[in-house]
Amino acid sequence: IFIGLAILFFIISFLVGSSMSKRAMVPIIKSYTQQRHFVADASHELRTPLSILNSSIDVLELEEGENISEFSRNVLMDMKDEVKRMTTLVNDLLSLARSDAGLTNISFETFDFIPVVEQLDRSIQPLAVSRHIKLNLHTPADLLVSGDKERLKQLLYILIDNAIKYTPQHGTVNLFLSMGVNDDHEESLLIQVQDTGIGIQPADQKKIFNRFYRVDKNRTKQIEGTGIGLAIAKWIVEEHKGTIQLSSHLGEGSVFTVKIPQISPK
Ligand code: ADP
Repeated sequence: IFIGLAILFFIISFLVGSSMSKRAMVPIIKSYTQQRHFVADASHELRTPLSILNSSIDVLELEEGENISEFSRNVLMDMKDEVKRMTTLVNDLLSLARSDAGLTNISFETFDFIPVVEQLDRSIQPLAVSRHIKLNLHTPADLLVSGDKERLKQLLYILIDNAIKYTPQHGTVNLFLSMGVNDDHEESLLIQVQDTGIGIQPADQKKIFNRFYRVDKNRTKQIEGTGIGLAIAKWIVEEHKGTIQLSSHLGEGSVFTVKIPQISPK
């Protein structure tokens, strides 16, 4: 009888306890969800004034033309840079907030990745050239891929942009694209971005995928960044049920390897 009562008491206290804790959790989950929706909405609303500011600066530059003083021209250029920086930050925050709130719509399709990569190359080469970095593409003539076109392009952009940013002048960045297999022997898109940059020490290698994490502020202080890029990259890879790995040696360079299985997602 004693053992029976003890078991009964245990079961009742477990049931009461778990239902109470569930009830206590409901308002917390609700406010958490509300907060995430708020960040998503706020970031979205911030985009409109930023794009208005951007075009207003363009109009001012055009209207004033030759009459504008050297000083005012520099002020306008600084304003444009800042608006651009803030637009990137707001877009990144919006991506993360939307994914947190479950508001993103990843849309899978089958498409040739090469024209996408070529377009990206055209937009990013000027940055590489301005930093005296050689950016090489190693891609097949065509590459049929299953995934979200815009997100995969964004993923490549983040990795290549970082590789250029964290590589000193006269370095090299290589992009390798091919079809292969992942560790589970599934047919996978293989993306490798390799640089001859500053490298990342082992202690930081896991942390760099965390939001807002930037390695040793002193080493990267003069390099612009927010610490969000790789968090977004990781999220995109996870949405595609893929993996992202880093191999890096301080002072020698880094290689980011992404594998995206080519199976239709549920
Ligand atoms: P951001 O570049 O905006 O700071 P990321 O999330 O893209 O943010 O990267 C996080 C950090 O990881 C960077 O601040 C940098 O310290 C480090 N990092 C990323 N890519 C590289 C790279 N290719 N080489 C060296 N360090 C890198």
